[in-house]
Amino acid sequence: MSAAFPLVPGVAVSSSAEIAQILANPGFGVYFTDHMAQADWTAEAGWQDSRIGPYEPFSLPPGGAVLHYAQEVFEGLKAYRRADGSVWLFRPELNARRLIRSAERMDLPALPEEAFLASVEGLVRADAAWVPERDEETLYLRPFIFASEAFLGVRSARQVVYAVVASPSGAYFASGFRPIDIWVTSSFSRAGAGGTGAAKCGGNYASGLLASKEAAAHGCGQVLFTDAAEHEWVEELGGMNVFFVTSDRRLLTPAVGNILEGITRQSVLELAPEFGLAPEARPISLTELKAAIWSRDITEAFACGTAAVITPIARFLFDDESAGAEAEAALAEPQGEMTQALRRRLVDIQWGRASDPGGWTRRVI
Ligand SMILES: *Cc1c(COP(=O)(O)O)cnc(C)c1O
Repeated sequence: MSAAFPLVPGVAVSSSAEIAQILANPGFGVYFTDHMAQADWTAEAGWQDSRIGPYEPFSLPPGGAVLHYAQEVFEGLKAYRRADGSVWLFRPELNARRLIRSAERMDLPALPEEAFLASVEGLVRADAAWVPERDEETLYLRPFIFASEAFLGVRSARQVVYAVVASPSGAYFASGFRPIDIWVTSSFSRAGAGGTGAAKCGGNYASGLLASKEAAAHGCGQVLFTDAAEHEWVEELGGMNVFFVTSDRRLLTPAVGNILEGITRQSVLELAPEFGLAPEARPISLTELKAAIWSRDITEAFACGTAAVITPIARFLFDDESAGAEAEAALAEPQGEMTQALRRRLVDIQWGRASDPGGWTRRVI
């Protein structure tokens, strides 16, 4: 197919007053824009009919395979409006490549990188009026691919839909940059060896919801998953990666494997040397983590991902009744200097307020 996503003529759009009313308090993921990008795929014809059309319900038969076997993958990225009115994306090529890897794992067709970029940029241009102007607010973009074929046999679908929807968004955590507590679950796992932990697929989230509920019941903002075999090796949070800062200036994060390789994670690892931090992506055990927090060898911890950027962590609460007072590990510096410096550097690049030596940002408008 050609990589172009032409705008379907005649799509009805919201008035500027309607958009202004929504942008006054956008929340996160609640409102959707006037348009969506879509392309359809069949095993016979490949990708076809790519376009930017109205945001409207899909016509999906009840036998549609995604509804039964969850053959689906997605992405998440943001469009940032800068002070001069221009609109930019942050490392969208990495989202395009990750969508290809996720699709391959779920045996869905890969969407070429150029088509991904054209769809996202076309949608941002069509819905330019929806890109917020206020600081820290963005247009969140959600590309996804799902099995649309009506067929109940268990095999990979021969009809698939790719779409991108857009949602104006304020801060992901209502509490802003306030530190969150993390619930370390030992009842649930997110991923196992050979599973889908490294793919951004909806099923990973569905299987994590109960653990998130358990975390919320303990007053925690996120759940931390450990490995499925031993419940000993730190993996990641419900929908974010996790980092630790040591007193001797190392920046620790779990190695890739079962975790979702975040673009924020990768960017933080690449920025670390600017702050004199030595990045270490390696296995981290709960035993090491607890001991290092108590001894103050680990002083800061934070969660990171596109939606929440960098959010500081105050405490880890452990799902271990026998541990008594040891069931909690509080960071010495819950809003530490390094967490704040990394966050500031990252958002300054994203918003064009700082130099961008890696060429991470890409102008759309
Ligand atoms: C999307 C996601 C992340 C963060 O990835 P970013 O590219 O930084 O947004 C981390 N963990 C999971 C499970 C995710 O789905």
